[in-house]
Amino acid sequence: MAEQKRDYYEVLGVGKTADDAELKKAYRGLAKKYHPDVNPGDEKAEKMFKEASEAYAILSDAEKRQQYDQFGHAAFANGGGFSGFENFDFGDLFGDLFGDIFGGGRRRGNTGPMKGANLRTSIRITFDEAVFGVDKDIELTLKDECGTCKGSGAKPGTSPETCGKCGGKGQVVYTQQSFFGTVRNVQTCPDCRGSGKVIKDRCLDCSGSGYVANRKTIQVSIPAGIDSGQSVRIREKGEPGSKGGPRGDLLVEVIISRHPHFQRQGFDIHSTVPISFAIAALGGEIVIDTVDGKVIYEVKAGTQTETKVRLRGKGVPTLSRRDIRGDHYITLVIKTPEKLSQEARDLLVNFDQLTGDSLKAAANVTAERSESKSGVKNNKKKKRW
Ligand SMILES: [Zn+2]
Ligand SMILES: [Zn+2]
Repeated sequence: MAEQKRDYYEVLGVGKTADDAELKKAYRGLAKKYHPDVNPGDEKAEKMFKEASEAYAILSDAEKRQQYDQFGHAAFANGGGFSGFENFDFGDLFGDLFGDIFGGGRRRGNTGPMKGANLRTSIRITFDEAVFGVDKDIELTLKDECGTCKGSGAKPGTSPETCGKCGGKGQVVYTQQSFFGTVRNVQTCPDCRGSGKVIKDRCLDCSGSGYVANRKTIQVSIPAGIDSGQSVRIREKGEPGSKGGPRGDLLVEVIISRHPHFQRQGFDIHSTVPISFAIAALGGEIVIDTVDGKVIYEVKAGTQTETKVRLRGKGVPTLSRRDIRGDHYITLVIKTPEKLSQEARDLLVNFDQLTGDSLKAAANVTAERSESKSGVKNNKKKKRW
């Protein structure tokens, strides 16, 4: 036996340098999975459990771990057996481990009606649909009670029989000599899986499950103002409940496609609008796209580039109150013309001569200072003028 023993690190699935926390975590995982009380009568699980417990007992003891690292299993082999393990103190491990195994992890018995599980799906909508809300149809496969057997899973004319193992209670009580001593434990009945009934003749339409899958179209009302990642709950369109319990809910996560010009931040919308240098200088009307359509905006004379403008109430409606909306922020960006006709060029040269005095004076100072370096921005253009 001794020579067939698996490496303790391998048993726990950890590396040679694993620290105490890693060891404990690994062992807890294995103990939960293979504990005899969770796997009644399963000899293989019991063997795995003992193997893991032994590995943990050695590796969590600094002195024994060192011996093991040096000599392997030979360090503890006397007469082919394993000594010292029986006296291993499970102390603190015992408490929290058992809390995990036998606490919240225990399956519910078969009691009253139970609500079905929730289902999740997602839907992609446009920016505008998210702003104003939209009704959408989604197609999905839902489980329904099988009409042939009315959900019993038994062939028509037959009916499920009371489970012999648990007497219809759905639970069985095990009294077991486990590794830790005698443990009394209530388990979901393995024969009927907690239903208390077993089916001898299965319904052919649902293979005994009691459910059939149907393709369904479900309408989702997506409220105005919804943001990406938020979900719409549709009551009772999830998995069917059991024993007359209601269906679970369907949760539809909303994914919003990017808009070519608008960005959204909470309930505000941001966009950039190019304006000409002439409009910026002279002022004038421009047309701005908003989610409500085109809006005329009066640019003030002498507007600088990167000026931010707020269009109040042109943002996204808040989810709670549709009439309260965020704002739309516009950044006005002055576009410098790149291709000029000769006439436009001449006019600009004239314009520059007429207006540019103060600016040019400053530019000349810069130019003189930079002459030795050359390659200064705008230098070339100035010379061509
Ligand atoms: Zn059926
Ligand atoms: Zn049973």
